[in-house]
Amino acid sequence: MKAEILAVGTELLMGQIANTNAQYISGRLPEVGVGVYYHTVVGDNPSRLKDCLDLALKRSDIVIMTGGLGPTKDDLTKETVAEAFGRELVLHQESLDKIKEFFDKIQRTMTESNKKQAFLPEGSLIIENNNGTAPGCIIEDGSKVVVMLPGPPKEMKPMFDETVLAYFSKKASFKLVSKFLRIFGIGEAAMEERIIDLIDNQTNPTIAPYAKDGEVTLRVTARCQNEEEGDTLIKPVIEEIKNRLGEAVYSVDNKNMEEVAGELLIKNNISISFAESCTGGLLSARITEIPGISAVLAGSMVTYSNDIKANNLGVKEETLNTYGAVSSYTAEEMAVNIRKVMNTKLGLSITGIAGPDGGADDKPVGLVYIALADENGVECTRLNLWGNRNRIRNNTVLNALDIIRRYILKKY
Ligand code: ATP
Ligand code: MG
Repeated sequence: MKAEILAVGTELLMGQIANTNAQYISGRLPEVGVGVYYHTVVGDNPSRLKDCLDLALKRSDIVIMTGGLGPTKDDLTKETVAEAFGRELVLHQESLDKIKEFFDKIQRTMTESNKKQAFLPEGSLIIENNNGTAPGCIIEDGSKVVVMLPGPPKEMKPMFDETVLAYFSKKASFKLVSKFLRIFGIGEAAMEERIIDLIDNQTNPTIAPYAKDGEVTLRVTARCQNEEEGDTLIKPVIEEIKNRLGEAVYSVDNKNMEEVAGELLIKNNISISFAESCTGGLLSARITEIPGISAVLAGSMVTYSNDIKANNLGVKEETLNTYGAVSSYTAEEMAVNIRKVMNTKLGLSITGIAGPDGGADDKPVGLVYIALADENGVECTRLNLWGNRNRIRNNTVLNALDIIRRYILKKY
């Protein structure tokens, strides 16, 4: 089944908001065997909307529209679509009752214009909206299907998940089940080299790599009748990829690095503390996104200046003077000392040059040291990262988390 998405809203064209609805819907339709071939955005203008709809119906079986179901005059999606199919808008009493109920619940009075939202194209299937006032609907006409959903994502998503996916799932002759492998510590090209034969010979499942923000994701997608069959098809492929790439595969269920590292710390009950310089607390912020991390994370110090590194963390003046703040020696002392100060099993430190200034020939921008101390000693990793300040800092955090992950996999 061929689908396209038609997002309605002048705000989208003006760049005031991004078309995240199209992104969301496109990400999920393949699960129910529907392929998305076009995204279109059009403003709140009836004749241009009509043109877009006509074109969409010519080239696609399914058109999913979002936006323009509101109570105001510029909301004209239903009107335009109903007209295109030669259908009247008729009052749907249940929807009107629900809208009234919604206003009672939030203790506001319903306006006359809200009634407009209960008028829906005759003969359409109604999609309930439990998070707002505008119901959505599905028009079936011959082989064509048009789905209309409200614009606000917090209303659109549950309606899409609960009703639209189930609707297409029933119609579909097959499903697509995808798993995402997250890979770190090996470049995209090097990774491809190791699995190129798998990619070249793929039929079902298919394998597609993409690189983003310093890491690589592999999507493995099976065409199947149901989830179970999908899993059965995908499993051996994932095993083979893991054999080839080893520990670089850090997640097979699309978890991010902080989740993986955080969960490993929690599961093994390993207490940890951080001393951060160039990341200014970014690592601590990331890892504290993980629920339950308080069981193992004691705390962290952002030791930005040399004074604080020396006076508060006890890095030797001599080390700082001889080797500088960005050096393996400083990193190692930071890690050893934070571990002591916080009385934790592990201590991890970060010091580096995030740029754009502050680089030198022997210490270029992107030079970062990460040290990890445990009861037996300390190990330091030197990184030469590239990119702007933002990328370097983010990549440093990813590397730090990966160092924790690999340490635990090795020792536990
Ligand atoms: P309302 O009843 O709120 O008017 P609506 O169905 O008429 O809903 P719009 O008026 O087009 O929808 O958009 C309402 C809000 O929904 C927008 O201000 C925006 O925040 C969000 N929105 C609309 N379209 C999109 C989209 N394609 N992607 C993400 N957000 C969107
Ligand atoms: Mg609106």
